[in-house]
Amino acid sequence: MTEKKAEIGIFGGSGFYSLLDNVEEISIETPYGAPSDRLTIGEIGGRKVAFLPRHGRNHQYPPHMINYRANIYAMKLLGVEQIIGPCATGSLQPEVKPGMFVLCDQLVDRTSGRKDTFYDGPIATHVSAADPYCDVMREVAFETAKELGIPVKNGGTVVVIQGPRFSTRAESKWFSSMGWEVINMTQYPEAYLARELEMCYLNVSLITDYDVGLEGMPEIPPVSHEEVIRVFTANNEKLKSLIFELVPKLPSVRNCTCSRALEGARF
Ligand SMILES: [Zn+2]
Repeated sequence: MTEKKAEIGIFGGSGFYSLLDNVEEISIETPYGAPSDRLTIGEIGGRKVAFLPRHGRNHQYPPHMINYRANIYAMKLLGVEQIIGPCATGSLQPEVKPGMFVLCDQLVDRTSGRKDTFYDGPIATHVSAADPYCDVMREVAFETAKELGIPVKNGGTVVVIQGPRFSTRAESKWFSSMGWEVINMTQYPEAYLARELEMCYLNVSLITDYDVGLEGMPEIPPVSHEEVIRVFTANNEKLKSLIFELVPKLPSVRNCTCSRALEGARF
């Protein structure tokens, strides 16, 4: 293992390719291959953080081509225990409006063929995914977002689709009718892989626009491409302010169950 260089890991999503100035850049190789880019190590409020743009800094890896195992394992090698995983998402519910942040506590996996485990044998390891996100990180993030005046929803379900295509109208209507809030292409297996290595993971879903199935509903006004870009850019700015406030407040000693995810998982 590399020496412990960071305690908190942050993945950058679409439009979020750098976080800190005066950082140390490191290339890491993992048993699962190379992560999406070099990682940058820096400090926020006295806490050591590692940053990695999950699509690569030139957005060269679309969601279905990201090496999620390498990205998560690289964080583990640096000593990271808690991960902040923001992502751009579409809304599946009229009341979940563009510009809002949803801190999801559940996910639905609609991906296929992704390498989604570190445990291919010979020791059978079945890690619970009942609650795939860290409750402790979510509560701290919720309070922090409220203090900053960011419109935020505590809890929600993200449907993760394979991509690169977007949903059909029928698929999108189905997801909405289930009561799920947001749709995205990267939360699975990223969040679950963190759990397999006993790391905490916080989802921050940045709502960019409404998914295709909500178009034409009376309460959804038509939006221009320029408006989507404006919301997208503003979300990433709000996200950075949230991260700078949130990181120093995260517990430095963990008591959550994420840190004991492998207890009872092996047979
Ligand atoms: Zn946790």
